[in-house]
Amino acid sequence: MANLCVVGSHAVNGVAAIHSEILKATVFRDFFEMWPEKFQNKTNGITPRRWLLLCNPGLSDLICDKIGEDWTVHLEQLQELKQWAKDPAFQRAVMKVKQENKLRLASLIERDTGVKINPASMFDVQVKRIHEYKRQLLNILHVITLYNRIKRDPSAPVTPRTVMIGGKAAPGYYIAKQIIALACAVGNTVNNDPDVGDNLKLIFLENYRVTLAERIMPAADLSEQISTAGTEASGTGNMKFMLNGALTIGTMDGANVEMAEEAGEDNLFIFGMRVDDVEDLKRRGYNAYEYYERNPELRQCIEQIRSGFFSPGEPGRFAHLAEVLLQHDRFLHLADYDAYIEAQQKVSEAYQNQAKWAEMVITNIATSGKFSSDRTIAEYAREIWGVEPTWEKLPAPHETV
Ligand SMILES: *Cc1c(COP(=O)(O)O)cnc(C)c1O
Repeated sequence: MANLCVVGSHAVNGVAAIHSEILKATVFRDFFEMWPEKFQNKTNGITPRRWLLLCNPGLSDLICDKIGEDWTVHLEQLQELKQWAKDPAFQRAVMKVKQENKLRLASLIERDTGVKINPASMFDVQVKRIHEYKRQLLNILHVITLYNRIKRDPSAPVTPRTVMIGGKAAPGYYIAKQIIALACAVGNTVNNDPDVGDNLKLIFLENYRVTLAERIMPAADLSEQISTAGTEASGTGNMKFMLNGALTIGTMDGANVEMAEEAGEDNLFIFGMRVDDVEDLKRRGYNAYEYYERNPELRQCIEQIRSGFFSPGEPGRFAHLAEVLLQHDRFLHLADYDAYIEAQQKVSEAYQNQAKWAEMVITNIATSGKFSSDRTIAEYAREIWGVEPTWEKLPAPHETV
């Protein structure tokens, strides 16, 4: 069907720069050779009306106080906020709004799940459809690693975290359903261990949907965008988090690449294999056991999943998931484990310095203007549909012929 689409269309585009390049180099290589002029890029965007003005009135008001209200229809104007990135008063104001949003989300979650949340902890959030390529399992491996470290030395200082994972699995996608079950099982173990206290929680958020996303984005400190490089066409959740002042831990995939370009790589936590590294590794032959044998902390996590540590009533419950990671993993989780744990360590250290963290947050908000869907739609209009955007009012319905 994709082949017929290319033949029948006058324009073909990917939804982020890296995705458009992958289409030309691999999926539609022959078509690109024949009709290079058909191929374009249109990086996705999100609407700032829903994803900031409506869902985060506290932050919206702060921004309006500084730069007026035109940013809601000219999002690139957020750039003007850069001049206050190092301003202690503005930093405190932005972090105060974040704290209020976190308290509101915490009470909603406590009501729905019964889990008591530490509002001073970092809110570390991965919300998106459950899929192997998005690598929720890598996130869960990090939580298990933190848990094992606390158990080994309960008195060692830590940066408290509340990890939230939310998303739906397609009804027939067996492994995705298992991933949800594992997140719930690890959460049950971690959340009820007195050695852990309120230094670590793992919450699975049920029924993730736009209504819940509008509560979550304003309250997030850390945005998890950790797909295997080359698999996420663009992502739009990444943009919603950025606009609401969460920092991103992510791979060089989809629109993360352009977010790093806009904000500067120092203002995101980028880690792991690039698309070229993924291709090289697959060409050489990926062997998960190499990583499993080399790293005892990783080995412990996999063994706990495999042997029923998180499912004592049913020891074989997650054996299949462990086998997927070790023997049938198209998404190379274990190859990125070391780099991910190291990047998460940097996140924890950064969170200790709230002024520096706030500076990064403001820089991210200020450089998120490119990701307005107004920009995306204007590009489709001019470069594909051949029409000029206009501010003229449309005729009222009764005036149309
Ligand atoms: C934005 C959004 C998505 C897309 O999230 P990604 O992280 O880009 O996959 C999915 N579901 C809901 C409810 C959303 O609001």
